[in-house]
Amino acid sequence: ALVVRHRMRSAERWARAAAVLRELEEKCATPVEKLWEVADAMTKEMHAGLESEDVSKLKMIISYVDKLPTGDERGLFYALDLGGTNFRVLRVQLGGREGRVVRQEAKEVSIPHDLMVGRSDELFDFIASALVKFVDSEGEDFHLHSGRQRELGFTFSFPVKQTSVASGTLIKWTKGFNIDGMVGEDVVSELNKALQRQGLDMQVAALVNDTVGTLAGGRYDDTDVVAAVILGTGTNAAYVERADAIKKWKGPLPGSGEIVINMEWGNFSSSHLPMTEYDTALDVESLNPGDQIFEKLISGMYLGEIVRRVLLRLAVQTALFGDNVPPQLEIPFVLRTPVMSAMHHDTSADLKVVGAKLKEFLGISSTSLKARKVVVQICDVVAKRGARLAAAGIVGILKKLGRDGSGMRRTVIAMDGGLYEHYTVFRECLHGALNEMLGDEASSSVVVNLTNDGSGLGASLLAASHSRYLEQS
Ligand code: BGC
Ligand code: MG
Repeated sequence: ALVVRHRMRSAERWARAAAVLRELEEKCATPVEKLWEVADAMTKEMHAGLESEDVSKLKMIISYVDKLPTGDERGLFYALDLGGTNFRVLRVQLGGREGRVVRQEAKEVSIPHDLMVGRSDELFDFIASALVKFVDSEGEDFHLHSGRQRELGFTFSFPVKQTSVASGTLIKWTKGFNIDGMVGEDVVSELNKALQRQGLDMQVAALVNDTVGTLAGGRYDDTDVVAAVILGTGTNAAYVERADAIKKWKGPLPGSGEIVINMEWGNFSSSHLPMTEYDTALDVESLNPGDQIFEKLISGMYLGEIVRRVLLRLAVQTALFGDNVPPQLEIPFVLRTPVMSAMHHDTSADLKVVGAKLKEFLGISSTSLKARKVVVQICDVVAKRGARLAAAGIVGILKKLGRDGSGMRRTVIAMDGGLYEHYTVFRECLHGALNEMLGDEASSSVVVNLTNDGSGLGASLLAASHSRYLEQS
C-alpha cells in the first residue's frame, strides 16, 4: 500500500486538495457552447458512419428492422435479454389491436462474473438452461398456435454486425464482458447450439440491440417515438433513419422507407470531449483501451470508477483520508456507481451516508466532514459531466433528424437503463442540459420517456413482426 510519507500540515493539505478539485472542475466543464460542439461532432460522425463502415467512430449499424410494431402483433412470443449484469427472459401473449399485451411474465437472473470472462459455450449454456426452465413453467394462460414452433426475440446488447434481422456477428465485447473466440462469430448460431444441447425447440426470429428493442417497445406505446437511448451499465442510442439517407445500404428500399440504425454511440470520441488524466488512465487500464470513450465518460459501469481514481489521487497527494492511503481504494471498480449515487444524494447535514458508504465499501473508518464534502463534490462533477454529455448526444440525433429547432413536432425518445432511472441528479442534469441547449420552445416538444425494460417487450414484438408464420396467419 502507498503511504503518504510526509505528514502534511492541515492547511497545506486542504490547499492541495482544493487545487486538485479545481483542476478537475475545469477539465470537466461543459458550458453550453461546448455541449453544442459535442452535438455537432456527433451529427457529423453520424453522417460519416452512414456513408461507410470504416471512416467513423460511429458504426451506425443497420439493424434490418424496417417495420416497427404497429399494435397488430399477435401470438405467444419469448424474449431473452443479455448484455448487462443481469439477463432476463420474458414471455408475452400479444392480442392484436384490441388485446395488446394480454399477459406477460418475466424472470431476471444475475450472471455470475466468471461467466462474463469465461468460455462462450458456458455462457450460452447458462442462458439456455435458464430459458428451458422458464419455458417449462409456461402456464395454461399462454397459447401457442398449434403446430408452431416457439419464437424468440434475442436482445444482445453489444456491437453486432447484423447480417439479417435474425443473425449477426459480434464486433467486440464491451462493459466488462470478455469471452475468447466470440468476436466474428454469429451470435444466434452460438445460442442455437446451446438451445440444441439443452433440447429446447425454439426459433430466433429477431436479433436486436437493446436500443433497437427499446425503440420498438417505445413505438408500440407511442407513435411519436423516433429514437431510443440506453443509460445503464453501458450507453448507446438507436433511431429511425430514412433508408435513402443510408448511403452504405445496398439492399432494396423497404416499403416503410425507413430503417432503424443502431449507432453504437458509446464508441464516439472527439477532441471536443472534456477529458481528464483520470479518464485517460481508466481507458488505458481498461479491458478495451481506445474503445468506448463516450461510454467511459457517461455510463454506470465507469462513473464510480472515475470517482475512485480522483479519491485515490487525493488520498495519496493530500492525505485526504489520513496518513495512510486506504488499501481498498486502490482496487479498480470497488466504488460502484449506485454507491456513488447514494453518497451524492446524501442530504443529511453531517453527510452520514457518505461516511457509512466510505466505511462499508472502501474500508475508510473515520473521515472529517470536510473530507466527506469533497467526496460529494467529486461525485457531482463526474455525474454532471456524464449527464450533460449524454444530453449533447441526444441533441446530435435531434439535429440529424432536423428536430432541434423551433416549431417542431412532438418528438419522443424512449429511454431505459438503471443510471437514468435511479440516479436522480444525473437524470435532472440531463434534462437541464437539454433545455439549455434547445431553448424553452424546442425542448418543450421533446419528451424523454422511461420505458422500464422496454427492450424485452420490444424484442418479442419484433419477433412477432418478423415471425416466419406471419404470411400464414
Ligand atoms: C454496447 C451497446 C449497448 C449499450 C447499452 C454498450 O456497451 O456496445 O451495444 O446498446 O452498451 O447496453
Ligand atoms: Mg438492459
